[in-house]
Amino acid sequence: MQNYHKKYINGEPFDKQDFIGMLSLRGEEMSKLLELAGKVRDERVGEGAYLRGLIEYSNVCRKDCLYCGIRRSNHTPRYTLTEAEVLDCARFAHENNYGSVVIQGGENQSPQHVQTIARLVREIKKLSSGRLGITLSLGEQSREVYRRWFEAGAHRYLLRIESSDRRLYRSIHPDDRLHRFETRLEALADLRAEGYQVGTGVMIGLPGQTVADLAADLLFMREVDIDMCGMGPYIESAGTPLADCPADGRLTLSERFDLALKMVAALRLSMPDINIAATTALQAIRPGGRLRALQSGANVIMPNLTPARYRENYFLYDNKPLSMDSSIPEENIRYGEWGDSKHFAARRPDC
Ligand code: SAH
Repeated sequence: MQNYHKKYINGEPFDKQDFIGMLSLRGEEMSKLLELAGKVRDERVGEGAYLRGLIEYSNVCRKDCLYCGIRRSNHTPRYTLTEAEVLDCARFAHENNYGSVVIQGGENQSPQHVQTIARLVREIKKLSSGRLGITLSLGEQSREVYRRWFEAGAHRYLLRIESSDRRLYRSIHPDDRLHRFETRLEALADLRAEGYQVGTGVMIGLPGQTVADLAADLLFMREVDIDMCGMGPYIESAGTPLADCPADGRLTLSERFDLALKMVAALRLSMPDINIAATTALQAIRPGGRLRALQSGANVIMPNLTPARYRENYFLYDNKPLSMDSSIPEENIRYGEWGDSKHFAARRPDC
């Protein structure tokens, strides 16, 4: 039995070297790791995947992240869904027995935006008689805004740390007050304090990122005691500074794909009862990519419900799939369940 398997069985926490070891596995050894994580997923959070209908609400963003296709400086047509369009997506999700929706978009702190989101959350609750769970992924906001949205009915929030290494974080963001690592950390703490199930994640295969950095990301997730995780391979987005600047020793997309699967598997062994998403970026590299993630420990998928005519404008990275993936077998989907994080329930037995 492998060392990581023994540690998992004995309930011993993994250290950085353990994670580096797991992330360095190849071939047959790598397959064993992924397979074990799939089994642990089945045992600890159940077989199959929860659904969250993804609503890409707006590509208007005040940030200028060096990797992202909807960064402020990119000349891409900007859109924001109308309230009726968002509610149509939510109604579709409800009628098709998805347990939850995710509203994701660029970072916008205008009072009007804050108010609209609060209203939409309340309306979605109303149209589904409280049945649809609501996850938000709308960037950094003040604690008061997080509170308002929570009070309106949102109960989960995704905010990726992108990289838990300050130096690497700095290298993929502009060096200014809008893009502070500390602010992002504080936002994660605020979300927790306001009562959300908190999700974070990182990009995998960034220029200059090492396996040790990714191992540190896994330690970070345990330290922050996250409830959910969405992480996927970094994929160049043409026209962004990070894609266009020459960087030696970039990993191939295929290497990033494998590394992302190993990250999912290592995280499942490290935090067996959290929710882990099989992210779209995997699918952008390889058809069936999300299914591979589900077999390697992930338990959440987020089919895109954004109206087709806007999708090409929410182009975070190249080759982002525009349509729903048909490679996920129906029987693997857990319809009609909120699919809350068991980890969250274990921490807060009253909820
Ligand atoms: N504005 C929100 C949502 C961001 S978009 C927020 O700040 O949380 C969702 C995620 O897409 C980001 O967190 C980032 O990790 C990912 N992303 C952006 N550009 C990417 C790229 N080029 N490759 C892979 N993932 C990318």
